[in-house]
Amino acid sequence: MKDFKEFTKDLAELIAIKSVQGEKMPDAPFGTEVKRALIWFLKKAESFGFTTINYDNYAGEIAFGEGQEIGIIGHLDVVPVGTGWNQDPFTLTEKDGYFIGRGVGDDKGAMLITLYALKELKDSKKNCNKKFRFFVGTNEESSWQDVAYLKTKTTLPEYGFSPDGNFPVSYAEKGFYFVNVKLPPFKNFADLTGGTVINAVCAHAEITPTGDFDRSLLVKHGLKYENGKIISRGIAAHGSKPALGKNALLPMFRFLKDCGEDVDAVTDYLFSDKWDICKMHNEQGFITLSPDLAKPTDGGTLIMCDCRIPAPFTVDTVKDKLRLAPLDISVIDHDHPPFMIDKNGKFVQTLLSAYNNVTGENQTPVSMGGSTFARVFKKGCAFGPEFADENCHMHEANERVKKISLKKTYEIYKNTLFDLAAIKEDL
Ligand SMILES: [Zn+2]
Repeated sequence: MKDFKEFTKDLAELIAIKSVQGEKMPDAPFGTEVKRALIWFLKKAESFGFTTINYDNYAGEIAFGEGQEIGIIGHLDVVPVGTGWNQDPFTLTEKDGYFIGRGVGDDKGAMLITLYALKELKDSKKNCNKKFRFFVGTNEESSWQDVAYLKTKTTLPEYGFSPDGNFPVSYAEKGFYFVNVKLPPFKNFADLTGGTVINAVCAHAEITPTGDFDRSLLVKHGLKYENGKIISRGIAAHGSKPALGKNALLPMFRFLKDCGEDVDAVTDYLFSDKWDICKMHNEQGFITLSPDLAKPTDGGTLIMCDCRIPAPFTVDTVKDKLRLAPLDISVIDHDHPPFMIDKNGKFVQTLLSAYNNVTGENQTPVSMGGSTFARVFKKGCAFGPEFADENCHMHEANERVKKISLKKTYEIYKNTLFDLAAIKEDL
């Protein structure tokens, strides 16, 4: 990147804007700081000579070129800071070859890189056979209301990519659903709680005994009795990869079963997959069902499961199986269905070769368990910025990106834009 110093200065300014979702204001749907980040970004684009559109502070657009439309979409909102930072999260810090700060990996860094790459294409004065429409999201970390609003104001391009996922390039994303299971009250226990969020494997669960129970069963199931509560500890992992964790609810339910509670259906189906849901797979991987949250409800217990379904399976595939269990089950649909595009098509392959040419690797398109902005385009791909061998600690303390990775990402995006611009025929 020619202007890396300038880029670094801009990145520091952008990171300094605390664009965590805030209180809704009349002209700031996601809070004033999120709006400030959007305005800052659009002004920067204008200073580069681009025309911009502000969709009422829900989202922005930066456009360049003429021809078949290609979309790009990322976001400027960030997740809350949390604890454990070694420095101010909103001061871009350079240390040991890393840039550290909230948003450097997700997604401010990649947004700014994309803008700089688009500027280089514009300044090159090369023939551009595509119209790039670069959308600036501001509500990705919450509920995607930015995209919902955008769709009421404009028609999004058919093809597009989102610099808000992983390299090399993803051609498919699993569908994402909640499967809720309601259990009646236990006989001798109350207030079963477990987990923190739906998309993380439950690492801690506890329950209060309301009568006597056999203490030797605690040892059998690896449970502890502390301050009047029975505690189960597991290991957290992302909800899309439950096999990497250890669910704290499983030993808890085995214990409850041994105590004479009527939870056979829970242990058999939810935890031992008697319905064979998690055996179903295709080239994108397995269907996963992870009971990640438990909380008391109406005298009973609500268990919420993270469920991921790879295309061409659909939610009906899973619903047919769920009916097999004698449990009170409902499926919550968030409009994130399984999603897949042609991995051998010209669009995916153009992105992939830009990646392979810059890195010298020989990768093939991959699928993702997570859900990204790529799916707002009918034929969308998540494309970077996280490299397979790098953990940017997104959503965690001390979020960081290697300086050298930022430069590599820039080369990849720049080459992608130049390569797409050179394609005369429609994709
Ligand atoms: Zn993101």
